[in-house]
Amino acid sequence: MSDTTNILRDKQGRAMNYLRLAITDKCNLRCSYCMPEEGITFAPRKDLMSYEEILRLIVLLSEHGVNKIRITGGEPFLRKDLIHFLKELKGIRKIEKIAITTNGTITARHLDELWELDIRDINLSIDSVDRQRFMKITRRDQCDQVWDCYTQMRDRGFRLKINAVVMKNLNVDDIIPLVALTKQEDVSVRFIEEMPFNGSDENKIGLEWNYLKILEHITEEYGTPKKLKDPKNSTSLNYQIPGHKGSFGIIPAYTRSFCGSCNRLRLTPQGVLKTCLYDEGVFSIRDLMRSGATDDELMAAIQDALAHRAKDGWEAERSRVQNIVESMANIGG
Ligand code: SAM
Ligand code: SF4
Repeated sequence: MSDTTNILRDKQGRAMNYLRLAITDKCNLRCSYCMPEEGITFAPRKDLMSYEEILRLIVLLSEHGVNKIRITGGEPFLRKDLIHFLKELKGIRKIEKIAITTNGTITARHLDELWELDIRDINLSIDSVDRQRFMKITRRDQCDQVWDCYTQMRDRGFRLKINAVVMKNLNVDDIIPLVALTKQEDVSVRFIEEMPFNGSDENKIGLEWNYLKILEHITEEYGTPKKLKDPKNSTSLNYQIPGHKGSFGIIPAYTRSFCGSCNRLRLTPQGVLKTCLYDEGVFSIRDLMRSGATDDELMAAIQDALAHRAKDGWEAERSRVQNIVESMANIGG
């Protein structure tokens, strides 16, 4: 355990122990809720935080209470030498948990290495059980590969969660089949409210399929599900259909009712620190590092950012200078 006097805390006194690390903005899918179909410019390599820079930051953060890292993106498995980076990350003593969020398109070829590294907590993003609907949402014909990856991971014994963004007119018909999957399979399916990060300024979400509507829809089919105890700092409200092996959760990402216990820091692929999903980036850790900052100077800048951290996603959004135009691929979810 870290020395408790040393732990990073925000303005509200919340301890920050979780870093979500988007290591690339590149992706081989084009999910409509995340990025436009065309006209995307990915960051040039020199703009990305190098693995060495990221590791330096994580060692520092781990000395200040950060003990959980989620690797995300873009599609993390598209970044070169990811497995080598993960090996280095495993070597940081105070990091207790490493998890990955992936779209499952090219993940299957790395399962041996992940297993060897004892990285077994994987969130797979799969918005549909149906090939046509999957294609409409992701604009790519990869449904079979992704479900095949799910099956391989399940059979190997990875701890799996499925992430599905719920969208009116696109995949509402997938809600019940995805819950049905939990009958025989020990998987947690999480339905996510759509957020306005689709890489354009046409992102006004009249969120019809919010948390309550999703829950009501499931209740109509199965009766009232059992409420499960939510893990500490969980963003999902978790349930189980009586008799099912697995469970389901709903993430009120747009209605933002989980902000009060948020323990997350985010780093974009270009090294910008975000202290809230909805802020527009607080400062560039990459630039500070590249200007020759010492470890103490880096930590002082991070502590200062936390001293000004918004209380919740609504406050962070109000403080923005620009409207939201980012793609979630540059935030990591
Ligand atoms: N490419 C990987 C994947 O899709 O799993 C990792 C990055 S992706 C940005 C991380 C998560 O963010 C995915 O589960 C995705 O469904 C979710 N996401 C992306 N855009 C979103 C949006 N506009 N609203 C809600 N969730 C979103
Ligand atoms: Fe790619 Fe993930 Fe965004 Fe889909 S959600 S476009 S898979 S980064």
